[in-house]
Formats: sequence, C-alpha cells, structure tokens
Amino acid sequence: MIELEITLETESPLVLRAGRASAQFTPTLTYIPGAALRGALALNRLGERSTPDDELRQVFLSGAVSFGPLFPSQNGVAGRPLPLSAVACKRYGAKHLRSAGDSLFRLELADVLGSLKPLDEWEDCPDCLDQEPNYPNKRDRLSGYYLEEDEFATVKPVTRMLTGVGMSRTTGTAAQGILFSMEAIEEGQIFRGRVRIEGDEAETLAECVKELAPEGKILRLGAARSRGQGRVRVVGWQPVNLQGPSLGERWDVLNAVVRGLWAEYDAEPEGEYFTLTLESPLILRDACLRPLRADDLKAETFGLPAGVERRRFILNEVILQGWNTAWRLPKRDTPAFGMGSVFLFRIPHGQRDAMLACLAEIEQAGLGERRHEGFGRVRVCDPFHYRFEEVST
Ligand SMILES: [Zn+2]
Repeated sequence: MIELEITLETESPLVLRAGRASAQFTPTLTYIPGAALRGALALNRLGERSTPDDELRQVFLSGAVSFGPLFPSQNGVAGRPLPLSAVACKRYGAKHLRSAGDSLFRLELADVLGSLKPLDEWEDCPDCLDQEPNYPNKRDRLSGYYLEEDEFATVKPVTRMLTGVGMSRTTGTAAQGILFSMEAIEEGQIFRGRVRIEGDEAETLAECVKELAPEGKILRLGAARSRGQGRVRVVGWQPVNLQGPSLGERWDVLNAVVRGLWAEYDAEPEGEYFTLTLESPLILRDACLRPLRADDLKAETFGLPAGVERRRFILNEVILQGWNTAWRLPKRDTPAFGMGSVFLFRIPHGQRDAMLACLAEIEQAGLGERRHEGFGRVRVCDPFHYRFEEVST
C-alpha cells in the first residue's frame, strides 16, 4: 500500500454543510470529508474528457484508491480528531494543560471496581485547583482536533458567518423575508489528509492521483460555489511520515499504563486491553444491509476473533448526508458512528501476538463500507488514550 499526504489551502470561504440546508443557520464541518475531495477531482477530470477512461475507472471506481478526511493542520503537522473520551478543564479547555486527559481507562476501572473513585479523584482540573482550591473547575469533554506532538496542543480552523438572501424562483430576484446565514471556513486555512492506494498497480495509480491534483491546481469544494466560495488550492503532495511507535509498542505501553492505573487502586487487570478509535465515520451494516446500532455491536462485527470481550464503547451516532453534484441529487442518508468514537476490548493474557496480526490488518484496510470515500479509518491502541498517564515499569 502507498500512502500519500495531500495539503490544501482555502482561497475563498469554504462552506461544508454537515446536512442539507433547510435551516436559517447552517454550520460548517471543520474538516474536509474525503468524499468532497474525491468528488471534486472526479468532476474536474470528467469536465476535461467527456467519457470516463480506464484511468478514471481505476482511480474512482475500482476501490483501490481511498481518499481520507483532511484535517486542519498547523506547523506542517496534520491535526487528528480528538477521541470522544478526551477531556480538559471545563472553563479553560486545553489552555489548562494539566487538565487534558482521557477518561477511557478510568471509566473502565470504575466499572471493574464497582466504584466511582478513579473518576471522582480525577475530575477536578489540577491547574484550577492550584489557583482556587475551594472552587475548582471540573474536567469536561474536549472536542476538535489536536496535534500529535510532544506538547499537547489543539488546532482549530477559523470560521466566519456569511449572510445570504434567498432568491425567488419566479422572479429571479431577492425573495422577501428569506435571510439566511452560513458558517464558512476562512481563507488561508491549511488542511492535510491521506490518500491510500492499494493493489499491484499502486505506483502507477499514485502518479495518476497526483496528476489529477497537481501543485497549484484550484479545486472547488463545498456549497455556494456559484457565489465564488469554496476555492481551494493544492499546496502539494508528500509521502506519509510513518514515524512513531509501532502497533506492538503501542499495545505494550497501553497495557503498562493500564497495569499502573489499576495498581493505584490495588487491582490487577484481568487480561490485556486494546482500543479501536475512529479517525473517520464508520458505516456498518448487517447481512441484510440494515444499519447496525450501538447495541448490535459485538467483537465479531469488527472482524475480531472469538474470545475478544467487548468492554466499553464511547460513541456517537451520526447521519451522513451528502449531495451528488454530478447527478444533482441528494445522496441517501446513512447512519454511521462518528469520528472519534472509541471501542475498548479485552482478551485473556497470552494472546497478544495473534491479536496484533489481526489488528494490523484492520488498521491498514479500515472497517465497514465506502472506504474509498475515506470512511472507516481506524487507529488501534491510539497513544492518545494513554499519553497523559504515567507508565509503570
Ligand atoms: Zn482549569
């Protein structure tokens, strides 16, 4: 598999609606879905040639190329979506650096112990506690994106409101009483995302993909394009930097952290833990193509072998809506599990190596449906879940 990183910069306000516009105020997504980039590239190419050629089929229809979501980035580093288990000071957020943390293993420990002690002792922001010992602020859910660097930092695209007036279909002029506002991502914001290319012809396909979006090319993304919004420039391509701990190392540190945390409460973990964390929405259906809901999820749903125990899921359910520009029709609404959802599993001791082989496959191939649009990207044993805890030796 070849993985490439593409960098885009917004040149005019970018409106990426989470749903179809039916309200007076429409918020924008703060990341660029892979499907939006994929659609823009396909339409561009179709505009140049009237009929789809082999190359186009290979890139867009064979399933060999997957366009992942593009996240806001800073200092040349792509942001990552914060897991739903991320927390920080309720009042000052991640500015109170010591309050940043992850609640997943403390929730699990509270469950194992049958006591809320591991959460109660941790819920106050330590920075606020130093300043105002009598009135500390609690830790609360932290959402958005973060930079995976030594020092924890969040990253957020700048947005602003655009105001518009509805047009009358009969007269073609401004309609009375129809004023609406759209949230848009500002100009000059940088986004980075990964394109994965699989198969024997990956190298040739990688060249094709790069040719579709050469450096300096202007793409049109999102809504309100006829009003000049959504101009995005391709800054360039680069190979993905695959530094960082290997899956095996992540597994070991995660479990060392678990043992350390459990030991603080005189407990010992009954097996080894691992996590699956969603880096893009995940679409799962059963054999009859019905969407799976949270209660239906078992270890087998994720392609995990028997003996894996489902422990704790922190997830949100979203409805994916979209617009097919070529057809000028809405895409079908699809229920999915949102980005940042976290799934915690446990296995008995001594099965680490067999499990790692299975997990490496999941991490590389992804899960669920519509993976070529970037859905179902998963990170196994995401360091975020343990980076704020001390490692016991
Ligand atoms: Zn605080």
